[in-house]
Amino acid sequence: MILRPAVFLDRDGVVIEDVSYLDTIDRLALFPWTIDSIRALNRAGLPVVVVTNQSGVARGFFSEAFVGDVHRELSARLAAGGARIDAYYYCPHHPDGRVPEYARACDCRKPSRGLIDRAARDLNLDPARSFVVGDKQSDIELARAAGARGILVRTGYGGAERPRPGGTVGEIEADAVVDNLAAAASWILTNLPSAIRNLKSDV
Ligand SMILES: [Mg+2]
Ligand SMILES: [Zn+2]
Repeated sequence: MILRPAVFLDRDGVVIEDVSYLDTIDRLALFPWTIDSIRALNRAGLPVVVVTNQSGVARGFFSEAFVGDVHRELSARLAAGGARIDAYYYCPHHPDGRVPEYARACDCRKPSRGLIDRAARDLNLDPARSFVVGDKQSDIELARAAGARGILVRTGYGGAERPRPGGTVGEIEADAVVDNLAAAASWILTNLPSAIRNLKSDV
């Protein structure tokens, strides 16, 4: 079986505006470039998978059903522009949560790689040939943990992560630091041939 490279996108601050615990659908706002960027990845044949920490569930701010509602609405808005997110994976947990069933340590809260591993099993993906796009250091740590390439965007929290010259963020080195998801998609499409080449060399 051939495992495919994929693009793992953080949700808040990358695909949609980070409004700090999105808890009503009317606060859902795509960036102006979101639809075009995801459509470009779709057309390149890359699975596009959202991986997102939603500790608001554990904190009692909203339900898992609401998270599903947000993702259905996001997918509907993308579909109107011919773009598609292939799958959504989220972590509802947090060790300090106040909803008992979610208040625990887990292996799926980023930067742990549980969400990526679940997606990889479900969709036959190869994390080591994949890309992670995020606005926080934890997203870049996730990329490192999964052996993927990590791209930091300056939207959301990305402007506050203060990457050092040369693309390092804190102790973690991002493969690229770019303005937004549109620039990240361009970077991925430019660097995709090397991922494909790696794929062929193993067959
Ligand atoms: Mg984020
Ligand atoms: Zn979790």
